[in-house]
Parts: sequence; structure tokens; C-alpha cells
Amino acid sequence: MVMQCKSSNIWDSYNNFFESELVKRRFSYDEFLPVMRRHKTRFAERIEGLSSAGHSIYSYTIGSGKTTVLLWSQMHGNEPVSTLALLDVMNYLETVTALPLLKSLTVCALPMLNPFGNDKFCRRNAMGIDLNRDVLALSAPESRILKKLHGDIAPSFGFNLHDQEQYYTTLPDRKQTMISFLAPKYNAEGDVNDIRKASMQLIASAADYIRPYADGCIGKYSDSFMPNAFGDNMMLWGTSTILVECGASGDDIDRKLPRKAAAVAIIKMLKSIASKDYSDTDLSLYNDIPNNIRDNTFDLIITGINIQMPSGRSFRADVGIRRYKGGDIEDFADYSSVYRVEGFGDLSQFGGIKFFNGAEASLLLNKEIKIGDTADYTILLNNGTQMSINQLY
Ligand SMILES: [Zn+2]
Repeated sequence: MVMQCKSSNIWDSYNNFFESELVKRRFSYDEFLPVMRRHKTRFAERIEGLSSAGHSIYSYTIGSGKTTVLLWSQMHGNEPVSTLALLDVMNYLETVTALPLLKSLTVCALPMLNPFGNDKFCRRNAMGIDLNRDVLALSAPESRILKKLHGDIAPSFGFNLHDQEQYYTTLPDRKQTMISFLAPKYNAEGDVNDIRKASMQLIASAADYIRPYADGCIGKYSDSFMPNAFGDNMMLWGTSTILVECGASGDDIDRKLPRKAAAVAIIKMLKSIASKDYSDTDLSLYNDIPNNIRDNTFDLIITGINIQMPSGRSFRADVGIRRYKGGDIEDFADYSSVYRVEGFGDLSQFGGIKFFNGAEASLLLNKEIKIGDTADYTILLNNGTQMSINQLY
């Protein structure tokens, strides 16, 4: 089916290519498979091999252009928003609007490289391997599939699609990061050759494009050189590689807005690759994208509340609370509503997804606060009203 994109503005026309069959962040491989395979009518479908748990891994190729682009998603199983954004991009590539693009580009998509991890909601594959640290050892079949496909098609551009935790913020604004990008290093020195420069310029132009919709929420991912990661090596092999990390946005548990930002940014970059309009972009626009800092925010910060100890002692402090994660951080239930204290004292250097001003309230304690405590507190407002932590969300 050829869909129409009436508006030339990618952001505003998103509903025309948004994959509405998959809306929730959590979905199974079985739910995903028919949605992905629908694309075989417009794309050339190929089975690239079997995952470590026996799932078929498919690629989808469209376009007749000289410049080849490879997009792959979800090497880390608990990062499914990247796959949803890729499905949106694949839908876009089937629209009439994309026809000129496909005269310049040949686009190959490899969605969901780690179906086992998707279904278990864990980072690693069925062998316990982190696929994005396996480019040298190639011990996992999924890694070999990606390496072989890269060798087969020798893409000029590569998009490595991931999700990041919700507790990143940008600096200096300390806003929760909705999306982050990186042009990975190809050596420890961080040299910039023409291959990496193109990635930086594309990112800068995409960040500029989505900034009106994500102001202060666009970050640059940590750029330490990782010799065993795919992105860094693809850059070394001559592919201008772009890391996209779908972040989070407040209460948006299904990450619809980060997904949209990622899909729109990727499409903008594909258009720039086709038109080569990025080549004049000043590298300072890339370097000026704020750093993306991990563990720099809380689900809720209660600021300056009067802490009332059982001894009668009282003082004012900030309390930082996060949703509970199970013992295995890689397999947590993301929809948990159990909250824990994860920060206490002066939290003015952290971002908060929500804030509660504690100036007119007290926290009545029967023991001292320890990091990791369940936040089952009662808050007494100065007007006599009592509230539980859950009521502050
Ligand atoms: Zn990842």
C-alpha cells in the first residue's frame, strides 16, 4: 500500500507513517513478526540467519540508489523502542514522499537483532553475550549475521539503533534526555576523518531539525572509544556510523515521543545523505550538543522537606525517589510502581522527572533514611493533610 504524506514537514506528517500496530513499548517477537513481514511486498525480504535462540533474523532492502545505508536495531533486547522507530522509518520509505530518496539510496533494514532479549526484556542474547561487545570475538550468531551483512552490502552509512535508560539528563539544563546521538570514535585518539566527519554533520543537522520539539532534551552519548563495539569498528571499516539512543520523556512509559524523535531524526538524516546538504554543516554544531549524563535524574525529587526524626531532631533535605528495579537490573519490570529512596541530602545538581516542593511539609520518620529503603512514607502538610508518596505522582 502506498501511503500519502501530505506535509513536507516530517515531524508534522508522522501519523502518516507511525506504525500503529505496535504502540506499547513491550511486545513479543510473535507480535512483531507479522508487522515487520508486511514490508516484504515493497521491500526485498531476506532471511539472514537464525538467532542464538532459533528466531529468524530478516533484512529488508528498498531503493535503487548508488549510496547504500544499513540500519539495524535492538542488539540489546531490552531496547525495543529502537525497533519501533525503525518500523516507522520503513513505513515512511513506502510513502510517495520517499520515492525521490530511493532513487539516490539503497536502504537495508535489519530490525530486532536480539529477539530472545526482546521477549525476556534483557540486554544479552540467549548465550549471555552482549552483541555490541562481540564484534571482534563474533561468538554469537547475531553478531556474525550483522558482520556478514555489512560485508555483503558495504554500506556508506550505518545507523546503530538503541534505547537508553530513563535516568540520563543533558547538561547544563539537567532535562531528561529524550534522544541522544553519537558519531563513534574509530581510534582512542578520537581523530576525525571524512568518514566520521560525515556522521557528525548528519547528527548536527538532525539535532537542529528536531530541536524545536525536544529543546534541551537532545544529548551527545558518551564517546569513549570501545574497540569491541560494532559502531566504532564500522567507522574503522569506512562506514559513516551514527548511534541513535531513544531516551525517555516523563510519564510517557511507552516512549512515544522519543520514538517519534528517533524516527524523524533518522528520516531527516536519510534525506540529508541523499541530497548531501549536510556537507557544509559546521562541526561545532555537533560538538555543542550537550553531553548526556547517566544516573543524573530521579522519578521524583521532594525538595527541602522538613525531616522529622523519632528523636525529635529535624532538618531540611531533598529526597530522590526512583521506581524499583528488581535484583537483576537487566531484567526489571518497567511498569513497577514500587518506589525507593535513591538519593538524599542536597540533590540540587540532579534533574527530576517530577518535583514536589517540600517547603510546607514534613516527612515523619520512625528510623533514619537509608539509600535503598522503600519510600512508603507519610508526608504531613503544614495544613494538617497527610499524603503518601504515591499521591505525589
Ligand atoms: Zn544498547
